[in-house]
Amino acid sequence: LKISKSYKLASRDFHPDNTIIKIKDVEIGGDQLVIMGGPCAVESPEQIDEIARLVKKAGGQVLRGGAFKPRTGPYSFQGIGVEGLAMMAEAGKKHGLLTITEVMTPEYVDVCAEYADILQVGTRNMQNFDLLRKLGTIQTPVLLKRGFSATYDEFLNAAEYILAGGNPNVMLCERGIRTFETYTRNTLDLAAIPVLQGLSHLPVISDPSHGTGRRELVESMCKASVAAGANGLIVEMHTDPDNSMTGDGVQSLFPDQFAGLLADLEKLAPLC
Ligand code: PEP
Ligand code: MN
Repeated sequence: LKISKSYKLASRDFHPDNTIIKIKDVEIGGDQLVIMGGPCAVESPEQIDEIARLVKKAGGQVLRGGAFKPRTGPYSFQGIGVEGLAMMAEAGKKHGLLTITEVMTPEYVDVCAEYADILQVGTRNMQNFDLLRKLGTIQTPVLLKRGFSATYDEFLNAAEYILAGGNPNVMLCERGIRTFETYTRNTLDLAAIPVLQGLSHLPVISDPSHGTGRRELVESMCKASVAAGANGLIVEMHTDPDNSMTGDGVQSLFPDQFAGLLADLEKLAPLC
């Protein structure tokens, strides 16, 4: 494996110990698994409140939900924006969960950081260098998703932009890459987990929801990710997946499945 190692701060050579990101009472990157669950998109106060309740009850620590959605087509639902951030923050607070939401442009970083505990950079923005630079100027933890056609080297260089700006709180997220296969939405690259942990000290989170695009594959790929050493999982869950406002209902777990999955995962590794 030839890696150029043009990155430095992201490299394990530079920083031999695992980075542990502490947010309130949750430590990401240590011996415990962090579970982030929730809908693709925040849709209404009732929807996000009910899902937050179910994530907490199942044993999750972080509520996920997009208020700004990076849609492939311009006519698709684009998210409800700042109002959605407020709804999610309230649900998180009420149910005792941290929150993670996607930010797409440098201009929205500050407002997203005001409402959420973790900021997500989506696969389509992995090389949005202006966004990465802006995220380097704050201390809010960032979950950086791998670009769907990015090499490990490109991925780690994207993380380097944030680290080089002065924000050490970066998690790497494998969310599937584009291959010749069309049965699955993406091909979850499980080998990325140990490869990235070898090359880097940053926590690695797996996203089997986007990594497969199929609900029936999510549970097994979550377990496989944990077996491969993932520090956490981000999983889509919806109370009414068939009527979700993005197309991601097909990959969203039902609440019962989500709860069953977490009960199984606890047998593999302690949850945060
Ligand atoms: C998401 O998390 O809903 C999302 C859009 O993810 P990705 O950027 O991996 O497609
Ligand atoms: Mn989604």
